[in-house]
Amino acid sequence: MSLAPTPRATLAAALFACTLAFAGSPLRAAPVTAVHELAQQEKGPLLGTLRDLVSIESGSQDVEGLAQIAALIRDRLAQLGGKAEIMEPAEVFRMDDTPPKTGAMVHAEFKGTGTRKIMLIAHMDTVYLRGMLKDQPFRVDGDRAYGLGISDDKQGVALIIHTVALLQKLKFKDYGTLTVLINGDEEISSPGARATITRLGSEQDAVFSFEGGGEDGGLRLATSGIGAAYLSVEGKASHAGAAPEKGVNALYELSHQLLQLKDLSQPERGLKLNWTVSQAGTNRNVIPARATAQADARALKVADFEQLEATLQQRVQNKLLPDSKVQVKFEVRRPPLEATAASRSLAAHGAVVYQELGLPLKVYEAATGGGTDAAFAALKTKAAVIEGFGLSGYGAHSNDAEYVQIGSIVPRLYLSARMIMDLSQNKMK
Ligand SMILES: [Zn+2]
Repeated sequence: MSLAPTPRATLAAALFACTLAFAGSPLRAAPVTAVHELAQQEKGPLLGTLRDLVSIESGSQDVEGLAQIAALIRDRLAQLGGKAEIMEPAEVFRMDDTPPKTGAMVHAEFKGTGTRKIMLIAHMDTVYLRGMLKDQPFRVDGDRAYGLGISDDKQGVALIIHTVALLQKLKFKDYGTLTVLINGDEEISSPGARATITRLGSEQDAVFSFEGGGEDGGLRLATSGIGAAYLSVEGKASHAGAAPEKGVNALYELSHQLLQLKDLSQPERGLKLNWTVSQAGTNRNVIPARATAQADARALKVADFEQLEATLQQRVQNKLLPDSKVQVKFEVRRPPLEATAASRSLAAHGAVVYQELGLPLKVYEAATGGGTDAAFAALKTKAAVIEGFGLSGYGAHSNDAEYVQIGSIVPRLYLSARMIMDLSQNKMK
């Protein structure tokens, strides 16, 4: 049944009415009720999965822990009927802080009978170091489930597993392919997973990313791009007292460069470049042979980073000391996610679905500062990419009191399952 001709407000009202009075209601109410009941049934098992995931320490550099959690996730997805595998990165994008070995991914594909291609993404690595878990194990207190990494992003992994479980119990197979990708290096800017996420993203009709839904559970259509600039100057050392004229002072050149590279921000379009770290010299009495500086960059549009890099490269050609060597390197640590017509329309349908539960759903179009893997998924695709499908919670990266709201489990399971179902059956406007 196509819902296309029905105006959205009327549709929302109709669906909401169905949920309230499903006994004598038209056809549409039955599946909605079934999804809601199954979501309620999955709540307990989902908490069990969360406990299992939190109980494995999986910091981005913890090779052993990551292998252990990846095996658990792969096995769970395989049990649900997916073709599940642990996938090593095809290529690694080496950044300044990329460790020699990055975490693998878990990839699973569920084949359906339809045509739509939908991908669900989350990450299994955390910012925490091994040994911290014993002081902050999984525990439930009232409406909150606490634990290290529970909000960022183990809840996302658990939600995806149980969304798939819910659809399986419903015997729903109207999608073409349902792809799950869980990466193991998100917290170090996804050096290994980014290429795979972008490639798989380009093959989809929609990508749902399960980072936490924040405190109010809003969906996010835009996230900030994060970049880094590295400036390095090579000069020539010499005795500062006896023969300074024989040296090339790298610190002088660096200072000149920083002054001519300091006004590249365009706050009105969300582009920011700020030099934050520098280093030069070794001894007071030696003309410094080397000087370096780093800048933090933010952007809301992919093209702004490209333009910024071009400007940096061009400006450093203008030197104070012709004998110095100046190099600038720009790293896109994470591209920005930009709202599109496709993501707006899909998120609007999410609000309709949430209304069936009598809940409001905020949709944010302005980036709030954080960057996520959703942006890699969106880099080369026309698909709708939406961030923030995860549970409501708090305390990511805070290493104390990280929690998720248990009350958000049922609505979130319902939302993700219904979005997959409606998209598969072309029930979007
Ligand atoms: Zn995260």
